Amino acid sequence: MKRLAKYLYVISLDGLSTLDFEYISNLPNFKELLTSASFCKNVYSVYPTLTYPAHVSIVTGKYPKNHGVINNTLLQVNRSNPDWYWHRKSIKGDTFYDLAIQNGMKVGSLFWPVTAKSKIQYNMPEILANRPWQNQILVSLINGSPIFQYKLNKKFGHLRDGIKQPNLDDFTHQSLLHTIKNKRLDLTLVHYTDLDSIRHEFGFYSEEAKLALKRHDKRIGQIMQALKEKGIYEESTIIILGDHSSIDENKVINLNVVLKQKGYIQVDSKGKILKYTAITKNCDGSAYVYVKNNDPKILNEITEIIKEFNDKYGCIDEIYSREKAEEFGADPNCSLMLEATNSYYFQDEIDGEPIKDISIENTKQSSHYTLSTHGYSPFKKDYTTVFIAVGKGIKKGVVIEKMCLIDEGPTFAKLLGVELKSSDGKILEELLEE
Ligand SMILES: [Zn+2]
Repeated sequence: MKRLAKYLYVISLDGLSTLDFEYISNLPNFKELLTSASFCKNVYSVYPTLTYPAHVSIVTGKYPKNHGVINNTLLQVNRSNPDWYWHRKSIKGDTFYDLAIQNGMKVGSLFWPVTAKSKIQYNMPEILANRPWQNQILVSLINGSPIFQYKLNKKFGHLRDGIKQPNLDDFTHQSLLHTIKNKRLDLTLVHYTDLDSIRHEFGFYSEEAKLALKRHDKRIGQIMQALKEKGIYEESTIIILGDHSSIDENKVINLNVVLKQKGYIQVDSKGKILKYTAITKNCDGSAYVYVKNNDPKILNEITEIIKEFNDKYGCIDEIYSREKAEEFGADPNCSLMLEATNSYYFQDEIDGEPIKDISIENTKQSSHYTLSTHGYSPFKKDYTTVFIAVGKGIKKGVVIEKMCLIDEGPTFAKLLGVELKSSDGKILEELLEE
């Protein structure tokens, strides 16, 4: 297959929403980029609309049920901070970046989710030291490319303050500019989380979110500038995409409190879960219910309990069957999937009240609580994300009315002259040059 792109940059602006499009179109660097770009303002994410399932859908072109990353985190009942799906091995089948590597291309990645221990040659994976005895720098080094990361940490590590924003993205960004200057890579993946983190903390429509978008605009301008200075701007292809939108909320649903009260979850005297026959696992705006062995009698009881609960609180929009969840592309092994009503989201606490009001005070005290979140059905109103493509191999001025996140991977593969054979999505032929 003919290769259309020479230097492909895939830039993920986590949490970028359709509702941001007008605002960013009037920021100087986005504006300049958009004059020669093709784009789609209505990109449907995948269910659950979470960062890890979405980023894996982008690189595989598959629904979560087919790529295997069905949530951000694993079901680990007694861990207050469960592990995330950090490793490439969690992904079933091909990614477009692996196909590029197999075809002799050089790939770099900065904080792209679910790439730990992948074959990416220049990789700084997104992975957290999640055990008390682990050291963050060491965990990152052994799960990515040690020398590449060591050099970037040495040069720009002072910019970083854990996962605090905008510090983290400032680090990511300087690392990207440095990589553009010093390496010649066929494909570069980069994941910025500034906007998403800020929205979780301050809310969707906050002034802080607008400032995060302005910072992104400045970063985009500096990326364009770095490519121009290297003399490869005309030969580069730039993709700017979001993974999901988000919705303001102020109440948490803890259904496990009810399941414990009714005897489906059993705990010891210290509150540790000993066993369960039914449990919920949150995806923020939605939640999976897992019934042991999908026992039909228990499943019926649980469904009735949830309906009764919802009659009282009106906090759940939909109770989806396992079959329906699978049809939407979510975990085919769940027993039910619950979709929260706007202004509610799910957590997995087993103690306290089943509904908790969130105030700004809660979110200030703990990042455990947020003012805006995602994970809801991709078909909720005004909840789509954005796709912008510009440069070599891309036509100018094509506007795609609607598309899905799973169409991106096959399109990137085609740009690089490879083919994602088993994807669920379609190549966006209309924006590719002959
Ligand atoms: Zn995200």
